[in-house]
Amino acid sequence: MKPDSFSPAGAAAVAAAPGPRAGSGRLLAGALVLLAAALPLAPVPDLLITQANYVGLYALVVLGLVLLTGIAGLTSFGQAAFVGIGAYATAYCTLTFGWSPWITLFVGLGATGVSAWLIGTITMRMSGHYLPLATIAWSIALYYLFGSVEALGKYDGLSDLPSIGLFGWDLGGSRAMYALIWLSVALSAWGALNLLDSRPGRAIRALHGGVQMAEAMGVDTARLKVTVFVLAALLASVSGWLFAHLQRAVNPTPFGLEASLKYVIMLVAGGMSHVGGAVLGSSVMTLLQDQLQVLLPRVFGSAGNFEVIVFGLVLVLLLRFAPGGMWPGLGRWLPARRIAVVPGAPALARRTPVPAGEALLQVRGVQKRFGGLLAVDGVDLTVKAGEIVGLIGPNGAGKSTTFNLVTGVLPPSGGEVHLRGLRIDGRAAREISRLGLARTFQHVKLVADMSVLENVALGAYQRARVGVVAAVLRRDRRIEAAMLQEAERALRRVGLAELMHRPAGSLALGQQRLVEIARALCCDPAVLLLDEPAAGLRAFEKQALAVLLSELRDEGMGILLVEHDMEFVMKLTDHIVVMVFGRKIAEGAPLVIQTHPAVLEAYLGAAP
Ligand code: ADP
Ligand code: MG
Repeated sequence: MKPDSFSPAGAAAVAAAPGPRAGSGRLLAGALVLLAAALPLAPVPDLLITQANYVGLYALVVLGLVLLTGIAGLTSFGQAAFVGIGAYATAYCTLTFGWSPWITLFVGLGATGVSAWLIGTITMRMSGHYLPLATIAWSIALYYLFGSVEALGKYDGLSDLPSIGLFGWDLGGSRAMYALIWLSVALSAWGALNLLDSRPGRAIRALHGGVQMAEAMGVDTARLKVTVFVLAALLASVSGWLFAHLQRAVNPTPFGLEASLKYVIMLVAGGMSHVGGAVLGSSVMTLLQDQLQVLLPRVFGSAGNFEVIVFGLVLVLLLRFAPGGMWPGLGRWLPARRIAVVPGAPALARRTPVPAGEALLQVRGVQKRFGGLLAVDGVDLTVKAGEIVGLIGPNGAGKSTTFNLVTGVLPPSGGEVHLRGLRIDGRAAREISRLGLARTFQHVKLVADMSVLENVALGAYQRARVGVVAAVLRRDRRIEAAMLQEAERALRRVGLAELMHRPAGSLALGQQRLVEIARALCCDPAVLLLDEPAAGLRAFEKQALAVLLSELRDEGMGILLVEHDMEFVMKLTDHIVVMVFGRKIAEGAPLVIQTHPAVLEAYLGAAP
């Protein structure tokens, strides 16, 4: 099966099912779009069109920030500099070489893409906090560069740019530009929505809560962050291209740090994590700015950029009282987005099963040192196919650390770990996950505002290949349908299929643990590692979990279980390893462990 091949059947398999208010919401959304499209044909004043043009230009930049900041959780204060690159590239190349704006658009995109990739690659390797700082520095540096290069006209900039032509039409007028600008906004919003509903989109949405979970699902988070940063920069660059040909002139002022901050304010005002919030935020803040620029100098009795102060106040008030921005209030009237799973999609490829009894996971003398503390001290254990191994011990014994050494979250200080004969210690968590080891987390890690179904589909990330471009263009529907179908099947197995459209964060803790198990199953693992899966589960839920785990064992999966609930462990496991103070003190069948003197001493304080 070609993963990104488009087929109408596949497209039909994943359609947005109508939500509860779909009828009136659809109508409202449709009416708004029609109204917006007809605006330049209506006898409205030119001023209104001009204003709408600027709103569209800002919305493109803010849309990039929605993806970058609102959804991926990365902050940039340098978006205006990317707008500047797009604008200056087209200004310089059309004026100097006489190239068509349609060619210089791509020159600008190329220059923007390369610089964003460089900044992203350098800063992401350091740590999250370097990106905002680096983008501020970048923004200031570029502003002075634009202002001091002779060829770019210094602070006066470049003027007399040609207008954009299309098949012999001149798009120089503000009404023609309105069409081009808002077509760009509509296409970009469509692409962004497509992206968010796809394999790479789910991974992007998982970045917000830290990288550990996404890496465990096989996501190369550093690379993905750079990709999102580049995408956001490219949207800014398109805005710059349009801006240059709308104004027919460029100068450094609109590309400075202050402009970048305004984009961030528009983002927060509109609603950080919503595509629609980009348009809403830029509309409201542009109208507000225009009003304030007239009103405030009258109030203060002198000229000045007083609106910047009001913007700052608005930002503080929003963050305090409406951190979600305005969109959630408005979005209530729009159709609810709901992902439907229609059966009949092709199944994802499965791992070849391993014969029961074959050693899947072998841990040999692993050690982990934290400064002076030897948290894990030479532990050995083996998990075979068709076997549930329990890892128990008092708090602080080193169980979670052992877990992290096996899953690649931490590199061991010594010893070896083998998965199906391959040495995996020291490898990245995402590689280990691809080799067939899936896990859950002691502290549940789900994307709270993503549906249960999509959270589980994240588990199938490494079983399919869909790039960002295919996702944006919606050429991934067949494989997307297959991934969602797989997620639904995993949810059915853990008994949560009825809740699949609910946001994961709205579930009870016990149910969230089951969602994590479903997500792990979606990885099609050979070995499953569960860190305290029964914690927070009610008695009947524990019972159901025990049934599920023994079924998985019977199918040949190897399971390593860290668990405090002794009754649960004793009933379910085939073999138990007991750790105390980083050391393995005993191992054997549950009955042996229950009467083992060293274990009784460790748990009860003294041998009976
Ligand atoms: P368990 O899961 O069995 O309760 P852990 O593996 O979490 O135990 O912890 C084992 C020991 O290692 C504890 O003493 C804990 O304080 C210490 N420890 C765990 N992680 C770290 C870390 N990242 N840095 C320093 N010490 C740690
Ligand atoms: Mg622990």
